[in-house]
Amino acid sequence: MRFLNKVKGTLDMATRKSQDAIEVNKMNTQLKKWEADADKLYESIGEKVFRDPAIEQPETRNHINAQVHALQHLHRQMNDLKIKILLLKDLIECDSCGKVHAVTIKFCPDCGNNIADLVKRTMKNMAIEDQKE
Ligand SMILES: [Zn+2]
Repeated sequence: MRFLNKVKGTLDMATRKSQDAIEVNKMNTQLKKWEADADKLYESIGEKVFRDPAIEQPETRNHINAQVHALQHLHRQMNDLKIKILLLKDLIECDSCGKVHAVTIKFCPDCGNNIADLVKRTMKNMAIEDQKE
């Protein structure tokens, strides 16, 4: 909903800026928490492999599979959140070269990728995601 408001311009600029700053702070806190969660999962995998280096025990394999699955989920969440944080700052990462640019440019100055289209697609995905939450 926040992203839809932003697109429609229903919030005045000052209100939007301060709300965005608060939101970015919250998101960065969440990101740090997820990064710590990911570190624990990596650690847990490492310990299992240390105890069973050839990964012979089915229990080791199951444990690793479960942790890898959890890490994949966590990384997806973290990527989505990083995109949201950039968007709140009116920035977007080029999905072709990885450089960060203002959402207002039409084409990536580094690789020529269509940024206007990328912004449109990303905002659409975010709106869909917002409705799911
Ligand atoms: Zn680019």
